[in-house]
Amino acid sequence: MECSTKAVEAMAEIMVQEMNKVGLGDEDIRTVEIGMREILREIGAKALGQYLEEQDEKGQEEAVECQCGKEMDYQFKRQAKILSVFGWTSYRRKYYVCTDCHVGQAPLDGRLGIAAGQVTAGLAELLALAGVEVAFEEAACWLERFLLFRVSDNTVRKETEWFGQLQQEEEAQWQQQSQEVSWLQQRQREMGQQPGRLYGSLDGVMAPLKGEWRELKNIRLVPGGKSEILPKATAAWTAGGGTKRPASAGDQLSL
Ligand SMILES: [Zn+2]
Repeated sequence: MECSTKAVEAMAEIMVQEMNKVGLGDEDIRTVEIGMREILREIGAKALGQYLEEQDEKGQEEAVECQCGKEMDYQFKRQAKILSVFGWTSYRRKYYVCTDCHVGQAPLDGRLGIAAGQVTAGLAELLALAGVEVAFEEAACWLERFLLFRVSDNTVRKETEWFGQLQQEEEAQWQQQSQEVSWLQQRQREMGQQPGRLYGSLDGVMAPLKGEWRELKNIRLVPGGKSEILPKATAAWTAGGGTKRPASAGDQLSL
């Protein structure tokens, strides 16, 4: 997704004007950076809300059907809040209620996978990523620095456990499929014969050779899934030679 250069320039100009208004220009770089992120977050929350309202307007529902099969009645535009990567975001969208079972529904939420009052999919992913790495309380502290708003430990736990549950379900499916001969045969047909994998490692060491220091490269190749180690190849770094600088990433090596 790319914005037009003109649009980015126009937005940057407005941003600088606002930064000057709030006096950000005279601060140190860290304060400027955090201040800019705060402004961007505020803009993001506002823009997301406006975008959702626009999408709701575009959706022309002829008739909305309830899960029970009955047609739903349009009620009014109802306000909702979601916790997105920009913090709490509000928007108004069309709301329908079933005349029979009285269940309510907003078609926009269904179309975009939104649950009013809940964490969005974009934020849930970030919470779960932090939640699997450290304790939920610590994750919430980390996330506050990254996101610039506080998410409760419980929310981090809930989203992390939800992703954990999805992973468990997926693994259970893999286990089940691994026992089905027809599925295994089908997979083999689709995947075909896969080439083997070769793992390699490269290291360098400076050593005195014939009165000068030269870098030796140690290369080790290991075929994937086997314990056998191929004969080690050793090569001297000759580019520049002598007592010059050691090799760095991107140097051409003479093997
Ligand atoms: Zn119904």
